[in-house]
Amino acid sequence: MPSKSTTQVVIVGGGFGGLNAARSLARESVRITIVDRKNHHTFQPLLYQVATAGLSPGEIAAPIRSVFRGNKNVVCLLEEVQDFDLERRVVKTGEQELPYDYLIVAAGATHAYFGHDQWEPYAPGLKTIEDALEIRRRVLLAFELAERQAASGASHEPLNFVVVGAGPTGVELAGTLAEITHHVLAHEFRSIDPSRTCILLLEGGPRVLPAYPEDLSYSAEEQLRRLGVDVRTNALVTWVEPGAVRMGETRIVAPVILWAAGVAASPLGKKLGAACDRAGRVLVQPDLSIPGHPEVFVIGDLAALQDDQGKMLPGVAPVAIQEGRQVAETIRRELEGKSRENFKYWDKGSLATIGRAAGVAQFGKIHISGFIAWLAWLFIHIFFLIGFRNRILVLIQWAWSYVTYERGARLITGSTTLPGWSGGHPTQSTASSDADERVPTSSG
Ligand SMILES: Cc1cc2nc3c(=O)[nH]c(=O)nc-3n(C[C@H](O)[C@H](O)[C@H](O)COP(=O)(O)OP(=O)(O)OC[C@H]3O[C@@H](n4cnc5c(N)ncnc54)[C@H](O)[C@@H]3O)c2cc1C
Repeated sequence: MPSKSTTQVVIVGGGFGGLNAARSLARESVRITIVDRKNHHTFQPLLYQVATAGLSPGEIAAPIRSVFRGNKNVVCLLEEVQDFDLERRVVKTGEQELPYDYLIVAAGATHAYFGHDQWEPYAPGLKTIEDALEIRRRVLLAFELAERQAASGASHEPLNFVVVGAGPTGVELAGTLAEITHHVLAHEFRSIDPSRTCILLLEGGPRVLPAYPEDLSYSAEEQLRRLGVDVRTNALVTWVEPGAVRMGETRIVAPVILWAAGVAASPLGKKLGAACDRAGRVLVQPDLSIPGHPEVFVIGDLAALQDDQGKMLPGVAPVAIQEGRQVAETIRRELEGKSRENFKYWDKGSLATIGRAAGVAQFGKIHISGFIAWLAWLFIHIFFLIGFRNRILVLIQWAWSYVTYERGARLITGSTTLPGWSGGHPTQSTASSDADERVPTSSG
């Protein structure tokens, strides 16, 4: 066992898991290297606000290096990890090999298209700042193209926004899009016909927020409908093409399609050689290490572990945070000659936001819906934001947009085209046919 001051810990990923492991360990005299392919930690719960122009990227992300500016024993590297050699105890990046005594892999997960990766350019998912900016571009551009078309005197194409998947991300995207559509359209666009806009939330299963208790799912559906979202359950998307989705025989044309339907673990999990579940998550031991390698830990969205009742721990920030802290504690104890303890998740509850003053929350047997749940979501998430300055900025932005309905970050940058659309019109291959479903139905 190396001494504390010569112990080298390599952490792959500066997300919730990796960042919290490093913060807890940084107090010890061990040497820590954090490797991330981005230079920033992203506060993913607020990504939907960037995607819908409520917040700017700098308000929900922080340079990893700046988080550790006071810790001389922490080195941050902007590198993509490619592979591992567990026998030689090295992490392989494109450029170099990084030796370790302890390895913590916290590379997270990404969206999955169920074997149809070709759908991604037509229906982007939301995981990174880049994804959020691309979604923002498409959403804002769709409004502008419809306005341009309508301003020329023609009736504009139906302004449909389709969100595929009604988990927490799909629900918050659909609810916020509905809010923007109703308020921004009414105040700032002169020609768009509100009856020709529609937010569709398509869910393959029987209810929205399937991981929540049934009563909260139904409450969320009701709140979404009140916000003006067309919620369709048992609506399995079978194909995505430029500017349109299909559900069996039904085809819906939409300038913006967003994907919030599936999650796959980082491919790095499989490179560790341990057994993985169907989503590619590494089946870890109760102490979060992998079988045969007590010096290698996997945490957060990349790890698969059951709780006391045999239920799989969810892919949420509190699990990643607690696992990161636990692994840091395990390493500290071991270096002091103490034994390991198994990880135990302390579930403080689940919250999902739906839109302005709408949300659901579960704290044990207590189930809350509506404004109070939304308020709880807001304060808890702002509390966990990295950086005091960001917390204050976000709170001010939020209060301002709550009172004024303003969404301050409405910038369109990059390309001014949408897949399957040319100007304000669907291209020939996208154009509606008689067999297509007419949405919004009112103007069919
Ligand atoms: C849109 C969205 C909304 C969410 N909302 C909530 C919410 O409201 N509440 C909640 O509790 N949870 C929420 N989550 C889930 C939560 O964000 C995750 O559970 C959490 O981020 C998992 O932490 P992690 O450390 O495992 O992975 P992440 O936080 O994803 O971090 C992984 C890190 O690894 C890096 N990385 C990946 N591959 C490599 C590589 N090969 N080389 C180098 N670096 C690499 C990435 O750049 C990233 O920084 C949300 C997730 C999303 C996407």
